[in-house]
Amino acid sequence: MSFAKQHSKKYDAIVIGAGFSGLYMLHRLREAGFSARVYEAAWDIGGTWYFNRYPGARCDIESIYYNYTFSEELLNEWTWSSKYAEQHEILSYINFVADKLDLRKDIQLQTEVTSAKYNEKTQKWDIELENGSKVMTTYFIPAVGVLSASNIPNIKGIDHFQRELYHTGEWPHDKVDFKGKRVGVVGTGSSGIQAIPVIAQEAGHLTVFQRTPQYSSPAHNHSLDSETIEKTKENFSEIRQAMYASMHGVPSSARTRSTDQDSPEERQRTYEKAWQDGGLFSFLYTYSDIAFTPEANETVAQFIRSKINETVHDPETAKKLMPDFYYGTKRPILNTGYFETYNRENVSLIDLRSAPIEEITPNGLRTSNSEYDLDILVFATGFDALTGPLLKLNIQGKDGVTLNEKWAEGTQTYLGIATSGFPNMFMITGPQSPSVLSNMIVSIEQHVDWIVDCLAYLSEHNATIEADAEAEQMWAQQCKSIANMTLLSKTDSWYMGANIEGKPREFLAFAGGVGPYRQICDRVASKGYEGFTFL
Ligand code: FAD
Repeated sequence: MSFAKQHSKKYDAIVIGAGFSGLYMLHRLREAGFSARVYEAAWDIGGTWYFNRYPGARCDIESIYYNYTFSEELLNEWTWSSKYAEQHEILSYINFVADKLDLRKDIQLQTEVTSAKYNEKTQKWDIELENGSKVMTTYFIPAVGVLSASNIPNIKGIDHFQRELYHTGEWPHDKVDFKGKRVGVVGTGSSGIQAIPVIAQEAGHLTVFQRTPQYSSPAHNHSLDSETIEKTKENFSEIRQAMYASMHGVPSSARTRSTDQDSPEERQRTYEKAWQDGGLFSFLYTYSDIAFTPEANETVAQFIRSKINETVHDPETAKKLMPDFYYGTKRPILNTGYFETYNRENVSLIDLRSAPIEEITPNGLRTSNSEYDLDILVFATGFDALTGPLLKLNIQGKDGVTLNEKWAEGTQTYLGIATSGFPNMFMITGPQSPSVLSNMIVSIEQHVDWIVDCLAYLSEHNATIEADAEAEQMWAQQCKSIANMTLLSKTDSWYMGANIEGKPREFLAFAGGVGPYRQICDRVASKGYEGFTFL
């Protein structure tokens, strides 16, 4: 039987994933009159905020900005409790939105999409679900997230560990009981730095296994007072415009002043203020040259190192915690009591650079110079970011070419939204868009709005759209040149694919800023989708 005959259902659009992206996409598709279905592998909606329920999980963009901006009603009806919302509050917000917009009826949960194939004859996408059933769609929209494919390192013996093993990105729903236990945490990125202080309070002993020491500054989280909330709601139109035009999707920006225009004392005062203010981008916004010049960058780096030194009592431990890459070339990290945690009697820090992990044993972990008995092992080892979730989807485009084949040597997209050879496929916050360099909800909304406008155009013209290979090459070149103007591409980070063995080394996002990127996308659309071909 041909694939077409096996289909029981056809939709205008199929969306994969029910996180912030998929939910907003569903809402806009319905508003625009398209028939749409969302498939979500998890037991419930929420994406990132459904899965990442590890202790200490919270957002690091201020909650008043980390919400949808498209609806005044949603803005007015929801009130955040603290400056940086915890995971469960964000998940409640997502559920509130889904209920308010009556989204659930078009979402099929517990349904993993196992493949998506473009059929050149029908000019439709054939989508296969894990239960073997098949669905057909005109527009294929993977909203699978960029930090949703957990990275569990391939360490010898991992399958033989006989005690409790967790990854922060796939945290269980039942509370993990650390009380009195010997706990090991592998990884000190954003998730590790959030989880470690909380786990340390409960564990009998916590051993942190660190490969890369990180720059991190205090979040200074606090409850939000009613005045701040009122003011934000009243002024949201202006705030929204500032977010849309900004570098990172938040309504603030870097000063035009450079580090050499201030004396060392003045710089010290500026950095001290940034440290006291908290804020993900506070340090990057102090001086215009921090993201570009090694010497300027070193002044911030030194400031944060000196704070670590002041905070951590044991000089040997402090030394191990000193970061040595360019500040801001990995996602900045906010913390609540992270460095202070190393002053606790029940916490020890193992430097994996001097003694790498050799094996996970049935009862713990062995490095090149010691063995550790552990009751609970937590991997806070991040994600196969940006490309990982898409490449896991088994996507096949024209001429039978798979996305994995196409991107084997490096990512190729046009605007981070489309890729040539894959007509009518649209990515949300895909690689080579501002994505993880931004407040992602702003980037999600911008992509969804752009895509829905494009679908309306296609529907009106009865056309299929495909990115041009030349436009895509130029876009890749532009992304590369911008990243190379900054220090971003000089560090081995997950932005560069460096945390995953065998992944091509390339800077995976558009570093030119959310505002300029929006202008580029709008210009492409206003020129009749320049750089695309209609089939
Ligand atoms: P996701 O929320 O990742 O949702 C993707 C969904 O697709 C998932 O539910 C997944 O199950 C589903 N899916 C994937 N493959 C399939 C398949 N084959 N079949 C069916 N379903 C599938 N961003 C910020 O801007 N600020 C922050 O402070 C911030 N904090 C973060 C903290 C953590 C711990 C993490 C992991 C990420 C954070 N992010 C933050 C990024 C965050 O991922 C985005 O802000 C946003 O939640 C992404 O939404 P999304 O819908 O695009 O993707």
